[in-house]
Amino acid sequence: MSETNAPKLRSELAPETCWDLTQIYKTDADWEEAFRTLDDLLAAHQACRGHLADSAEALKRGLETGDALGLRLETLYSYAHLKSDEDLANGKNAGRRDRIAARYAEIEGETSWFDPELLAMPEARFKELMDDPVLAFYRRTLEDTARQRPHTLSEPEERILGLASDVFSTGNHAFCKLNDADLRFPHIKDDKGNDVELTHGNYIKYLENTDRRVRQDAFAACYKTYSSFANTIAALLDGTVKAGVLEAKLRHFPSARAASLFPDHVPESMYDGLIDAVRAKLPLLHRYFELRRRVLKLNKLELFDLVTPLVRPAKVLYSWEEGCDLVRQAVKLYGAEYCEALEHAFKDRWIDVYECRGKTSGAYSGGCYRKPPYVLLNYTGTLDSVSTLAHELGHSMHSYLSDRAQEYHYAGYCLFAAEVASTTNELLLNHYLLEHAQDDNLRAYLLTHLLDLIRGTVFRQTQFAEYERDIYAMSEEGEPLTAEALSDHYYKLNGEYFGSGVVNNEPIRFEWARIPHFHYNFYVYKYATGLSAAAKLSADIIAGNPAPALRFLKSGDTRDVLDLLRDAGADFATPEPVNAAMRLFETSLDQLESILLK
Ligand SMILES: [Zn+2]
Repeated sequence: MSETNAPKLRSELAPETCWDLTQIYKTDADWEEAFRTLDDLLAAHQACRGHLADSAEALKRGLETGDALGLRLETLYSYAHLKSDEDLANGKNAGRRDRIAARYAEIEGETSWFDPELLAMPEARFKELMDDPVLAFYRRTLEDTARQRPHTLSEPEERILGLASDVFSTGNHAFCKLNDADLRFPHIKDDKGNDVELTHGNYIKYLENTDRRVRQDAFAACYKTYSSFANTIAALLDGTVKAGVLEAKLRHFPSARAASLFPDHVPESMYDGLIDAVRAKLPLLHRYFELRRRVLKLNKLELFDLVTPLVRPAKVLYSWEEGCDLVRQAVKLYGAEYCEALEHAFKDRWIDVYECRGKTSGAYSGGCYRKPPYVLLNYTGTLDSVSTLAHELGHSMHSYLSDRAQEYHYAGYCLFAAEVASTTNELLLNHYLLEHAQDDNLRAYLLTHLLDLIRGTVFRQTQFAEYERDIYAMSEEGEPLTAEALSDHYYKLNGEYFGSGVVNNEPIRFEWARIPHFHYNFYVYKYATGLSAAAKLSADIIAGNPAPALRFLKSGDTRDVLDLLRDAGADFATPEPVNAAMRLFETSLDQLESILLK
């Protein structure tokens, strides 16, 4: 586990610490055989083309053959993708992954007739079929298709929009190229006086530096760079926003935001409610900044003083067995059913634990229907590593429980729901560790971690969500999104969110130019809602009421995500989920103050 050692070869790892993919396909040859069956499955589905309106039975056949094809594709892809992540340098594995990815895309293109054929049916006929008991199981899917009708255009119009979609994304695409490839940051001096080039990757490291001069230099250099491209980035963002506004208008949505929220059935009022609920609690955030200022012994807190650690990092390393045990203990409150399912992850080799040469970096949970929901880790034994294990197992348990409870068609869950399950586990782990922490430094470290998580996820992402709402509204009202207009509004909002206790330093005017998420319309609010829902679910679990959360984990996509969350106790028609996150923030802040201001 030592960091200085070169990574081991995969063949040198203990097999029980590697995932066992033979639970998907026993051998590569079995995968090949399954791959060959795709043609027959595709043919069966294609035979339904032109016949969906014939009868309820015919439509059912169309849906069933589509599911069978989808399940086979997903299973093939899953095996190939997981296998290739074991060692990215393995050409045979990469070849298998590329083959299925290409075939997947091809089949998606060949089967894209399905929804348009449904929508081309006269509305009365569609309704008749939808009401037919033969299609009762698929009713939810058909209702969802029916929702698209007012927003679907004629065939030639759809064709034009389809052809133009690539052009519409030029703004976003060009921003990525500028930001990731062309942009160069200046050199600064690090805390040892070395000349270092600032990069996206090391920026946060310098902002965390305990030498204030380094933080200030990194901050200034970063925003000076963005300010010098402000007009270009503004024009690109303006293009992305205009494309969103235009497409929403063409598709008869009241606004670009309404169009973006439509697939998740999220009303615009919920989005506004999130902003109002978070704004109402800004004084708590300001209290945390005041604590930071006092602990760091500063006269004035600057924006570059916000991420430098308040306490020494917890030095403890946890062996793999200890890490697993911590997660086991932390989720015990979920009850026996969850814990028994979790044991499969450890005993049946769902987890690929350690780094090895060529293995993909980071961590994820992935798999396919009714096969093990595998977890890829690069476990190092730090507290963060254990937290990642809890997070990814949260996704895996969600998949496992949904898969067991639901048919394939409704077993998947949307992104909005996904991060709720994983962050609930992170919060349960934090709770457990805090309850058992032996010394104040570890306690303070865990509390700071939690406060920064809520600050970064709920407060900050809501600030971004508000900014995004406002710039789209400006554009919809015909106001050009110039660098000046974008910066002025950003600066104003930033001042309001950070409060008078933090110097609203001029360079932050250009932060909007640094945030890639503003180019992916209306996505960031899901971070804030996800953690808020997790705060509510974990509070209920800790209070001895895990049943609603468990029900949520078994629901897959059987209902709209906001309905599922409401039944799980997180009703986003009210400020309650945000308030649950805020209660957690406040109690953690109380405790941290009592430790650090002693
Ligand atoms: Zn996740």
